[in-house]
Amino acid sequence: MNKTRLATVWLDGCSGCHMSFLDIDERLLDLAGKVDLVYSPLVDHKEFPPGVDVTLVEGSVSSEEDFTKIKDIRQKTRILVSLGDCAVTGNVPVMRNPFGTDAVLRRVYVENAAPGSLIPTEVVPALRPRVCPVHEVVPVDVFVPGCPPSADTIFATLTDLLEGRRPELSGQTRFGA
Ligand code: SF4
Repeated sequence: MNKTRLATVWLDGCSGCHMSFLDIDERLLDLAGKVDLVYSPLVDHKEFPPGVDVTLVEGSVSSEEDFTKIKDIRQKTRILVSLGDCAVTGNVPVMRNPFGTDAVLRRVYVENAAPGSLIPTEVVPALRPRVCPVHEVVPVDVFVPGCPPSADTIFATLTDLLEGRRPELSGQTRFGA
């Protein structure tokens, strides 16, 4: 039997959703028998591959790099899952929107840094003017709210998807892991 090709990606998030994914604990062994993890911050693949069945996306779209990445991922993914409140609503990262990008960069890299520090112009990905949830950039198939979603919720979502069902999450989402 072919295994499901699973990917996880991390845009503008804190990694908490990935930590909650790992909190599936021994059930990861169950999953390992059913999926090939073809791309993830948890493994060492450098390029997002084509033909991915399910991609879990943590984080919102904040930088030009996030924007380019999620467009590419959408094209290569059959079922795209917004995992956690940052991906679903923008959550914490959208808090920068009312201030504008220039003010935020100045605050971080100049006002709160050693005298003479400058806003970086290379290495750090350029910020987009406005942070947004994933579905404002590409179509999303499944929304899994929570900050982070609990391990049980993530496992239930993946179990449904692997068995060809649309996840039914009412009653399963709650705050905290
Ligand atoms: Fe972190 Fe919460 Fe955002 Fe997940 S939803 S990336 S846990 S802040």
